Amino acid sequence: MSRFHKIAVGDAELIALQDSWTGRRPGGFFVGVETDAWRPYREWLDDEGLLTHNFGCFLIRSEGQHLLVDTGLGQWPNPLDLQQPPSLLEAMQGAGVSPDDIDLVLFTHLHWDHTGWNTRGEENAPELTFPNARYVVQQKEYDFWTGPGDKPSNGPAFERVLAPIVAADRLELVSGEYTATTEVVAVPTPGHTPGHVSFAVVSAGRSAYILGDAANKPVQLTEPDWYPSFDMDPIESTKSRHMIFDRADQENALLAGGHFAFPSMGYPDHVDGRRSFRYVT
Ligand SMILES: [Zn+2]
Repeated sequence: MSRFHKIAVGDAELIALQDSWTGRRPGGFFVGVETDAWRPYREWLDDEGLLTHNFGCFLIRSEGQHLLVDTGLGQWPNPLDLQQPPSLLEAMQGAGVSPDDIDLVLFTHLHWDHTGWNTRGEENAPELTFPNARYVVQQKEYDFWTGPGDKPSNGPAFERVLAPIVAADRLELVSGEYTATTEVVAVPTPGHTPGHVSFAVVSAGRSAYILGDAANKPVQLTEPDWYPSFDMDPIESTKSRHMIFDRADQENALLAGGHFAFPSMGYPDHVDGRRSFRYVT
């Protein structure tokens, strides 16, 4: 099934694309936050009391260009108990976009579940999934995962998803507030990983933020100090989360989170004097 959802942001368009999803027990998902702490937040759990963990990417149409933010799990073997095989390309097709149309692939960070569809094909001869694109990565993020020393196990499989891009001379390393088009700019939100960025889409008086993993679940709008164990520097990630939520709230901006349950997009809201989140319909 194709899973995509389109929404206008001024003159630009943002399209949520679902690669796959799975359910997770809420207790312990955020460090020190056990099942009881979820009692006020039943609305964010499914009928079985599970937290939906979506794997999603976002396509931006801006100034005649197609920008893809993150590339999901990909076709490669993975240890997850998924509800459907990763199907980003089918979701794109449903939205009327072919892999050849992608001009830029932008990365929030390089975890394996955000870089999987960089390539596809045979394990020993992977090909670029988006053959006409430049793949844009923050220098700090690239240096961290490719530099010396032990790395967490959730990094990119270099030979499979990065080496072919380097070999094809399609990798572009950038720093900080990189401008992709006049409507799309990177916003540094470090903490989840060292070089993590979100992306702002600003057009004709409207704005949207593609969060990446600066926030993992909508409940964090109400509980911004909750952080998952895979935030490498939780003090930094919490600071980044407060910053981007405050900004979005002031601007009544659309928020897009790849791990938020599909359609993965909505607006900051206020319920009983606390910040919350309202999905687009
Ligand atoms: Zn992630």
